[in-house]
Amino acid sequence: MNNPLKPALDKKTRKFKEYNSYNLQSNNYYLLPFRFIRLDEQNELLVNEVGDFLIVSSGTVERIVNKKLDKISDEELYADLIAAFFISETPIPALLDVISTRYRTKKSFLDHFTALHIFVISLRCEHTCHYCQVSRVSENKKAFDMQRHHIDKGIDLMMKSPNPHITMEFQGGEALLAFENITYAVIQAKEKAMLLNKKISFVICTNLAVITDEMLKFCKEHEILISSSLDGPSFIHNKNRHRNGNNSYELAVKGIEESRQVLGFDRVSALLTTTNLSLLYPHEIVDEYYKLGFRNIFLRPISPYGFANYNERKNHYKTSEFLDFYKKALDKIIELNLRGEFFREDYAAIILRKILTPFPVGYVDLQSPAGMINSVIVFNYDGKVYATDEARMLAETKDYTFELGSLDTHSYEELFYGDKARFFSDAWTNESLPGCSECALQSYCGADPVFNYATQGTFIGHRPTSSFCERNMAIIKHLFLLMEKDARIKTIFRTWITGNN
Ligand code: SF4
Repeated sequence: MNNPLKPALDKKTRKFKEYNSYNLQSNNYYLLPFRFIRLDEQNELLVNEVGDFLIVSSGTVERIVNKKLDKISDEELYADLIAAFFISETPIPALLDVISTRYRTKKSFLDHFTALHIFVISLRCEHTCHYCQVSRVSENKKAFDMQRHHIDKGIDLMMKSPNPHITMEFQGGEALLAFENITYAVIQAKEKAMLLNKKISFVICTNLAVITDEMLKFCKEHEILISSSLDGPSFIHNKNRHRNGNNSYELAVKGIEESRQVLGFDRVSALLTTTNLSLLYPHEIVDEYYKLGFRNIFLRPISPYGFANYNERKNHYKTSEFLDFYKKALDKIIELNLRGEFFREDYAAIILRKILTPFPVGYVDLQSPAGMINSVIVFNYDGKVYATDEARMLAETKDYTFELGSLDTHSYEELFYGDKARFFSDAWTNESLPGCSECALQSYCGADPVFNYATQGTFIGHRPTSSFCERNMAIIKHLFLLMEKDARIKTIFRTWITGNN
């Protein structure tokens, strides 16, 4: 019987050419997978599948792709491209195993699954910060504190994580208002971790206003880290973080000093939230952190979720305004480093670790697959389980899209591997998201379906109008250009990721 396809294949126009005609003889190299982007008028950035990069002069990508490179006259570039797996002289590179090992290393944060377990131990708070996504000013412990049976169930689920090193983080409201719950949870979790031979770390997120000597003693005994909040000098901090007496800043500074004395200098960190007011004072904010003895700062934009969304005048700003603030603050930080002081910007350091080392980064907001469930889970005060901290903030405005289930009714398997988790997984890798899949910065960026949903209404999102994309693209390109233009800055950046100051 005649093959019905044969006539079509025999047509001259449809016929496959001989193998060698796909293998240009004059410039005998093969293209390996890589992506590229223009950094500025003079520079193009090439990035391969494992995040190795080359910065070349404008027009070079076009020459590489069209096989116009000459092995002799472009000797140095040609050798760099071969060495960094951008091109190969054989169809399958001889060192393919090296690339696959590097790729596995980059994704090794997935090896052990969820590490960070957030327990929202109470929603009560004595502050009324205008950007607060969640807290409640209330004496009603029953309604807004986590119940013991939920703490027990949360610990049981946490122990089921395959991860040998888990972190239990207590959040609020103001977590220290439910300190008796924290002591109970820490002692229970430690006992269970010991039986299962797991390493466990504890973190308390607190504004430090109500911390006491007794609390610090307990934190010392159980090696608990303190994560506090500091928005800058008092005129910014007290404007952002309201409490009776208007003394949030004074209490935070006192609490930081006392915690350092008891726990050790490096056991106390601080987080900045950037409001409209902060945007006017990038240098003053950096100076304040430096003055208080911090040697790092995390320049964090406000999360566009929950109640923060309601206060347009104080909490809404354009991404371009944040980027302007970020760059000015970063300039100030670099200036400090050029004077011989070690001072690190943490968001830049996370990205730089992705750019300059083969290792993964344990930062849940810049991962692919996304940090949700894979790296972090939230057990809320009312027993509900959420995919991320931001997901529970959405729930506070009655949007339960990212609720995975309840500690009362759902098993580990249902929560972590259930239908909802599988549904979200469609949108949690930037390797497959429209716009991200061909982006040169993909290896240094991440995927965030919760952010996409909260800001754009879909899990997949729309990159050309995404503030997540705009911010990350601008910051990553800025870091590359800083390193390209000044070798001293590249050296400084290396100290930020090695800690060698
Ligand atoms: S979010 Fe933007 S910068 Fe990040 S990988 Fe996607 S397209 Fe690139």
